[in-house]
Amino acid sequence: MDIKANLENVKKTFVNPNCLLVAVSKTKPIADLKAAYATGIRDFGENKVQELQDKHPELPEDIRWHMIGHLQRNKVKYIAPYVYLIHGVDSFKLLKEINKQGAKIDRVISVLLQIHIAEEESKFGFDKAELESMFKDDHFKALTHVKIKGLMGMATFTQDQNQVRKEFKSLKGLFEELKQQELPDFVKMEELSMGMSGDYLIAQEEGSTMVRIGSAIFGARDYNH
Ligand SMILES: *Cc1c(COP(=O)(O)O)cnc(C)c1O
Repeated sequence: MDIKANLENVKKTFVNPNCLLVAVSKTKPIADLKAAYATGIRDFGENKVQELQDKHPELPEDIRWHMIGHLQRNKVKYIAPYVYLIHGVDSFKLLKEINKQGAKIDRVISVLLQIHIAEEESKFGFDKAELESMFKDDHFKALTHVKIKGLMGMATFTQDQNQVRKEFKSLKGLFEELKQQELPDFVKMEELSMGMSGDYLIAQEEGSTMVRIGSAIFGARDYNH
């Protein structure tokens, strides 16, 4: 696997060169992350707390670690001291736990709210009504150790590009709508994390500011190892 060549090929195709590339290194060995680091990549995405815990001490300190997967509340405490951005905040309960762990160590933790845009029920995320009820909650307004930087979403796993585009458009629409709303100071709609190896071009056309790309850089994942 020529990681350097893959990275060059991926970046060459970017519709928006300012879109941040998060290299999704889940299941991949340290050597692969080092190869990507050597080309200048500093943003890495992992989806398992244990794997993040194992990898981060082995790699340079200037890496920005993105937690991109579903995060269990009882595991927030492990990554709270160093995680750069938690993409998959999919419930108010999880947000409150992140705030609590941030307060314990006096660190404001940056997060994205995950929005359910796909057809699959198996995917996580807020719907619009849940988001609105959270925003109205006094406990929400009183959060002190989280910074909400934007939204994240995953499109349906399908070959139907129109379907994918429609879902990204709906996420972008919500993002723009929230930008216009009066929200607490710790909420800033700046980042829109959407797009993976199979759909990052559509995502960029629809306004993505960060893409999470794994297999197009590191090759297919083998979950049996
Ligand atoms: C694995 C994963 C990705 C990357 O997927 P690829 O198709 O390999 O690019 C992106 N986002 C999330 C949330 C993931 O779990």
